[in-house]
Amino acid sequence: MTQDTALATSRPLLVIYTGGTLGMVESDAGLVPGVDIEARLTRALGALPAERRTALPDFEVLTFPDPIDSSAATPREWQRLAGEIAQRHRNHPGIVVLHGTDTLAWTASSLAYQLQGVDRPVVVTGAMQPLEAEGSDAADNVELALRFAVNPALQEVAIAFGGKLLRGVRARKWQSRDADAFASPNYPLLGERIGMDPILYPERGLVRQQRGAPRFELPDYGPLAEGGVARIALWPGITARQVAAWLQDPALKGALLEVWGGGNVPEDPELLGVIAEASGQGKLLAAISQCPHGGIDIGHYAAGQGLNEAGVLSADDMTPEAALTKLVHLLAQPLAHGERRRRFLTRLVGER
Ligand code: ASP
Repeated sequence: MTQDTALATSRPLLVIYTGGTLGMVESDAGLVPGVDIEARLTRALGALPAERRTALPDFEVLTFPDPIDSSAATPREWQRLAGEIAQRHRNHPGIVVLHGTDTLAWTASSLAYQLQGVDRPVVVTGAMQPLEAEGSDAADNVELALRFAVNPALQEVAIAFGGKLLRGVRARKWQSRDADAFASPNYPLLGERIGMDPILYPERGLVRQQRGAPRFELPDYGPLAEGGVARIALWPGITARQVAAWLQDPALKGALLEVWGGGNVPEDPELLGVIAEASGQGKLLAAISQCPHGGIDIGHYAAGQGLNEAGVLSADDMTPEAALTKLVHLLAQPLAHGERRRRFLTRLVGER
């Protein structure tokens, strides 16, 4: 028995409850985060068929004192969660994070950068319906997350949802109503439920790719949470003046531009001038495509040359969530501009 397997069988998992629909209850104002999550989880998992119940690993629960609807999350919440995991992970074979689905992919992406080299599973999950709702997906998702979180061959931040295991930094919320709510447009699944069993595909995991030794980076995201990074999607007719309003904000340190197709922007010298000026001021600018599938190749068309000349970095096939949280992560650290640019283009945690 390896050390990890021994740990996996002898210590409980840690489940961290941050909020989200999974734990919500009705109020006069609509659904709000509920309390007493441990007893409610135990009840919901206790209602699973016996053969599924007996396959569940032990866990203990840490409830954040102020569970939120994840639409209220900011980089500060990402930092706080990573800090908790960094502090506690050694006492548990794996961690499960219960989170609202709306910004779950953002949190999972940010955790991946902060917990680089994590040597055990960190599995984020949530639900489209509260634990007690009829036909809820909550117990199924928690069961899946717990069972993947006890597998020592998973050594990265992943999302368990709707029967699938996705790389956190590759995933996006894809559906606003369906229980199969998450997709990984440019990377295959890390695992999935087949029959009753969670099947992991280890050859797709970071452990076989580039995990390396744990080297957590837990910088202070506070200053970046005050408008330090923006996400700007182009639309036909966008003006230089509008882009300037974002990029000339003195608080802005970086921005993600969502451009056309394979990496194109309008050939508008004024617009390109605004972008080049911000880049020249040392702002970290990157571009992704508005197409969810495939990456970009800036400069393939003449219409993309302006981005190259303005020093905009290619985010290739990254998700918007992965690209923006990477900008936040790099900007929060005391790095020279050139080193930030180099790291942005480097594959740090399988995000590109
Ligand atoms: N608004 C909820 C949240 O993100 C949605 C959900 O959890 O499904 O917290």
